[in-house]
Amino acid sequence: MPGFKLAKRLESLPPYLFAAIDKAKDEVKAKGMDIISLGIGDPDLPTPDFISDVLCQAARKPVNHRYPSYVGMLEFRRAVSDWYKQRFNVELDPGDEVVTLIGSKEGIAHFPLAFVDPGDTVLVATPNYPVYGVAVGFAGGEVRYMPLLEENDFLPDLDAVDNDAWRRAKALFINYPNNPTAATAPRSFYQRVIEKAKEFEVIVVHDAAYTEIYFDEADKPLSILELPGAKDVCIEFHSLSKTYNMTGWRIGMAVGNPVLVKGLGKVKENIDSGAFQAVQEAGIAALKRGEPYARKFRDIYRERRDVVVTALKNIGVSCRIPDASFYVWARTPDGFSSQEFVTRLLRQTGVVVTPGNGFGAPGEGYFRISLTVNNERLMEAVSRISKL
Ligand SMILES: *Cc1c(COP(=O)(O)O)cnc(C)c1O
Repeated sequence: MPGFKLAKRLESLPPYLFAAIDKAKDEVKAKGMDIISLGIGDPDLPTPDFISDVLCQAARKPVNHRYPSYVGMLEFRRAVSDWYKQRFNVELDPGDEVVTLIGSKEGIAHFPLAFVDPGDTVLVATPNYPVYGVAVGFAGGEVRYMPLLEENDFLPDLDAVDNDAWRRAKALFINYPNNPTAATAPRSFYQRVIEKAKEFEVIVVHDAAYTEIYFDEADKPLSILELPGAKDVCIEFHSLSKTYNMTGWRIGMAVGNPVLVKGLGKVKENIDSGAFQAVQEAGIAALKRGEPYARKFRDIYRERRDVVVTALKNIGVSCRIPDASFYVWARTPDGFSSQEFVTRLLRQTGVVVTPGNGFGAPGEGYFRISLTVNNERLMEAVSRISKL
């Protein structure tokens, strides 16, 4: 048999974040232990029925059985534009400032192919959603990581990168509300990002997947596009996955600067052929009529957050109270590295959490809890953590 060697871009991938945990999980499962999985960020609640109903009807329409448009149905892009107007007061031209994605991960992963050349530097705030670094690497770019530190409220220090590096940078990836730290970003931060980006001609990629999982009605997370001048330098990725419990559906969007949106569309035109139109029809329904459900989901996550934060405090585990996202980012107890803590927790108690260092070096000393199981199981998980 010929020995097929993987391409260097795959050979040089960092190890899969959950591989070690999956292995320990299998061992624990084999022993018959009850596992509580707080590891992966995938909502446990179902998609609202009215959205599934639209899909079922749309799936029967022959017009939807043909190739979709690679930039997405105009109707879906209009619904995105209307939703951005209503939610963020941001004006988007559905013609050239919105592109439909097969989930935002797809768009994020393809974006560097449109704008990053081999050898280009891309700034990535870390700990981070692993796709940013991998996608830049696939395009041949080099990542320069910007640490997110608790003492800076998990915002990158823009001035810690010298002007020379800013000048060389092609793009900057940021993500708020943040996965994994659950931090949010104030208007002033976005303002400074945009100023820097304009000064040094850097593309700003903002991943906004969690803007609808917030807990304070009076202080909702922003779209970076709300800031004046943002559209000169920014592309924002968003998704229906987290807002409406639609991770399995694969539907999202990229919006903002028309040159950036168009570049991404060009890559998609050559790689995929767009999202199933019946899913886009269901997505339209979600964007138009999903808000009452999104509110209900927020209430559920808020309650879960309170259960976990209170219980962690009681057992002396320190964490910030998250304003948004469905994660709690907590410090590992004294004397434990992230990996040690997580592995021991799993082996001894059957509770799965994610080691902070798996999202990047500055995540060392933290672990991430996903609030994607019910209150009862969350309480049981914290009670087991306390026994460690
Ligand atoms: C879940 C998630 C996404 C979105 O995923 P899709 O399902 O592909 O839309 C994007 N960014 C972050 C940080 C996420 O956690």
